[in-house]
Amino acid sequence: HQKKHHSLASANDRFLDGLLVSTFDEASCLSRFKSHLYRKASPYKPSAYLLSKLRNYEHLHRSCGPNTKPYSKIMTKGPKFSKGDADTKCKYLVWTASNGLGNRMITLAAAFLYAILTDRVLLVKFGADMFGLFCEPFPDSSWLLPRNFPYWKDQKHIETYESMLMNSKKNRSKELLPQFLILNLQHTHDGHNNYFHCDQSQALLQKVPVLILRSDQYFVPSLFIIPSFSQELSKLFPEKDTVFHHLGRYLFHPSNEAWELISRFYETHLAKANEKIGLQIRVYNPHQVPHRTIVNEIIACSLQHKLLPELNVQKTAKSFLKKQTPKAVLVASLYSEYGEQLKTIYKANTTVTGEVIKVYQPSHEGRQKSNNDTHNIKAWTEIYLLSLCDALITSPKSTFGYVAHSLGGLKPWILHRAYGETIPNPPCQRAKSMEPCFHYPPKYDCRANLTTDFTSLFHHMKHCEDKNGGLRLV
Ligand code: GDP
Repeated sequence: HQKKHHSLASANDRFLDGLLVSTFDEASCLSRFKSHLYRKASPYKPSAYLLSKLRNYEHLHRSCGPNTKPYSKIMTKGPKFSKGDADTKCKYLVWTASNGLGNRMITLAAAFLYAILTDRVLLVKFGADMFGLFCEPFPDSSWLLPRNFPYWKDQKHIETYESMLMNSKKNRSKELLPQFLILNLQHTHDGHNNYFHCDQSQALLQKVPVLILRSDQYFVPSLFIIPSFSQELSKLFPEKDTVFHHLGRYLFHPSNEAWELISRFYETHLAKANEKIGLQIRVYNPHQVPHRTIVNEIIACSLQHKLLPELNVQKTAKSFLKKQTPKAVLVASLYSEYGEQLKTIYKANTTVTGEVIKVYQPSHEGRQKSNNDTHNIKAWTEIYLLSLCDALITSPKSTFGYVAHSLGGLKPWILHRAYGETIPNPPCQRAKSMEPCFHYPPKYDCRANLTTDFTSLFHHMKHCEDKNGGLRLV
């Protein structure tokens, strides 16, 4: 009886409370079936409505995805222009990469939500640098944009959303609409970004069969601002700060190659620890701030919030406690110095509680090399390992850290940016939510035709702790 009970419980855990379907082949994606052995069951449950929308989406993807008739009709042979047809069964959203892996993953999740809301099929243009990172997320189909996509290499001649908006302003909206349209929501591309969250833009975009998205931003808060989506979103996400947590765990399963690295590291170093503290140290100006300042800042933060015990400077540690299982500190950083300095500190000192602190840093790549596959697989491994920790201290404004804490269902302590040798006071601040921050949100109220601060219009949006003017769902 007990055994049966156990297997029922674990089927629930295994498929993340119904987020995942059980029909995948286990050997093709081990992490999909094994992650529940590494990550505690999430206290946040997906809504029944989200589950039903995911199943509908999977069905749509199967019917319209690569190697289907509608796919080849629309994506490879389609007319250049048409009157626009909002009711075509198969419409597509093509995701393209920009910036680092964290940016890519937050935009992928945002793109997926946009696809669900607009009944589009999400296809991803993965180059060699992304190809080996993830398993296929959708059953019996593929999310990879086929290489024979007519604009794989050259998108120079595709119309942009920007120019389409200009035309529609000049009352030329009755004109033919393009079959393919580039939707640029990059942070550096601010101008028309200001209108994406307006209902009239959505009405126009809805008529275009194939949207090609360029973005490095977590534009989910924009989707919550769009009036025609708001009811649907409330049903999908009764708990608003779980969007990435659920969609990320649905989409991002480490490939077998990444899983090998993740599970091996975990088993060797983290499995036996009774607590795992993750430190994500993303420093944009490593030459301006001494490594030691940041190490001291992290120690100050972890003491203040009781994440790590105090060092025993009087050397009165109770030696019998020394044998207890250690606390593991996982350091993710481009630079080796942080891990090394922390290791030295905890080797040379005991702690007042007698706890043994073991420090691990899986890699130190030196610099960002986002077009390189082995570099990206290390980044993904570390994001995933961080997400398996019990608590996280992260760096401000880093999307790498956002993905880690959101996947893990954790509210991190975010470090304050240090300048020179001064340790900021307070050294860190707890995030209000586990959602990623939208760094460059719109400021334009489409109905009132005024500049606005959306936190005053939506009580579930707050400014980010780590980015002035940024928006986070809470
Ligand atoms: P962000 O720039 O911090 O918002 O994060 P991104 O992930 O978008 O870009 C930073 C990129 O630099 C990562 O994707 C990695 O390629 C690399 N990187 C930064 N920090 C780390 C780290 O701690 N470990 C590893 N392996 N790579 C890192």
